[in-house]
Amino acid sequence: MVERQISSLTRRRLFQVAGALALGDVHRPVSALAGTTASGLPSNASQRHARAQTGLLIDGVREICTRLAAGGWRDLLLDVTGNVMDITAVGLVSTLRQPLTTIDRIAPGFEDFSLEGVSGIEPGSPARSLLYHALASPSVFTDRAGDVLSLFPTPAELDTVENYVYGVVPPSLEAIHAQAPGAPLAVVVFALEYRSGPQTVHGKHADLNFSRTGHARLGNVGPRYDAQRRAFLPLIADDPHSFPVQQPARATQLLREDGRVTGVATADITVAATWVVDAGGGQHWLARQLDIRRRFASPRLIARYGYARGPYPVPYEGPEIRSDEHGWTWTAQVATDLYQWTRLSFSENDPGRDTPPAVFRALTALGPPRGADVRWRIVERPAGRGYLCSGDAATVLDPASSHGVLRALMSGMMAGHVITECERGAVPAAAAIRDYHAWIMNQFDTDVTALGDFYRSLDKPPHWVLPATSLSTLSS
Ligand SMILES: Cc1cc2nc3c(=O)[nH]c(=O)nc-3n(C[C@H](O)[C@H](O)[C@H](O)COP(=O)(O)OP(=O)(O)OC[C@H]3O[C@@H](n4cnc5c(N)ncnc54)[C@H](O)[C@@H]3O)c2cc1C
Repeated sequence: MVERQISSLTRRRLFQVAGALALGDVHRPVSALAGTTASGLPSNASQRHARAQTGLLIDGVREICTRLAAGGWRDLLLDVTGNVMDITAVGLVSTLRQPLTTIDRIAPGFEDFSLEGVSGIEPGSPARSLLYHALASPSVFTDRAGDVLSLFPTPAELDTVENYVYGVVPPSLEAIHAQAPGAPLAVVVFALEYRSGPQTVHGKHADLNFSRTGHARLGNVGPRYDAQRRAFLPLIADDPHSFPVQQPARATQLLREDGRVTGVATADITVAATWVVDAGGGQHWLARQLDIRRRFASPRLIARYGYARGPYPVPYEGPEIRSDEHGWTWTAQVATDLYQWTRLSFSENDPGRDTPPAVFRALTALGPPRGADVRWRIVERPAGRGYLCSGDAATVLDPASSHGVLRALMSGMMAGHVITECERGAVPAAAAIRDYHAWIMNQFDTDVTALGDFYRSLDKPPHWVLPATSLSTLSS
């Protein structure tokens, strides 16, 4: 039993084995497990079994390739690889492992395939496996002529190919330990998604992204998988009573009747709603649609920010925030060899406003700095008939307030609470709107006061926080 677990190490099997070993550690040493050597490497019998298991994995991949070939995938992959990678070839194992001298990264959907990928299957690396990329990437859905392929892989089929990538050369526990010498081995469960290059954490090429928690949605209908998008959709377009969220979807128009907000329209659908909550951030989408003015409690403030890749030359001692006469800079390490900086300039005369801070100059900048308008502001009517604004859609402060995310969560919860109370008849709509409005104003006033106090406490406070700002002095 243990031998079977150790020898058939696909990614998911690895979790199971590691879990079994973690539990086993309590009772007996790993070397006492049948089928392993003292080093923890699979024994000869286990290796033989591993080969058998890999054989089973390629059978699954072959079935998938045969099914999808008819949907245009054989021709597509031949086209992209200069007629070399034939997914219906008799010797599929060697076809998938052979080095490819041609990979056309101009073909639609292959632009963001890893430059380090040189074969159909790269053991242990889905992102460098051309077959996995083609099947899993939401950007690969047409042939070169732009005709949509007629078949797409199912989630189970993507799992099978992924298992083959990880299982074609089964790793030993020793090899896994060697990736992080001295660190304890733990079992973790991640939600994963294969994303296009710009949406990955490193932003270099398409890759698997991992999250400690997956998105979970409560709904009244079963899961809907859109195979072409390689994604689950949480909305049925022609059923307005299903859970009204769809991704991607950009609200394009606010629906109104007799001065009351009655829903939103996107490019694809129209959603009628008793209440619309704008959680769309500091662009104040809903307020703009309704021509609601904003009131400002600071001059124009732009937070510029960027990322830089390491290694950092000396042990990094951040995160830290430093202020000077022109503004403040926040620096932090956000992942191994990945650093983030934010610069808030008190005025446009700040000499350091467009460049990464000196402490990160030895690192490689990931793209140009980006900017966000963080002028302290509030929409004049954050609640009204049929709508509520929450988070940055209602109020914005600069990042030194340090709880914009908390504010967004809290106001979202308050919006939910207000709507529930109103809909169950506990509070008249007019009172609910008034209370929410007062709550948002009150939060903003408190935050402006606290942030003003913070800036006034600096050695060289910006001139515009003197004297104390209050809502009564806000400019429109
Ligand atoms: C540089 C910087 C650093 C910051 N650091 C911190 C920090 O350390 N801690 C902290 O708590 N806060 C921080 N903040 C503030 C924080 O990011 C925001 O307050 C918070 O993200 C607001 O959340 P939100 O959900 O209201 O808006 P957002 O996070 O902006 O989310 C709005 C979402 O709505 C989408 N959207 C917009 N328009 C539409 C439309 N028409 N249709 C459909 N979708 C739409 C957007 O694409 C976006 O995904 C920082 C802000 C900046 C600029």
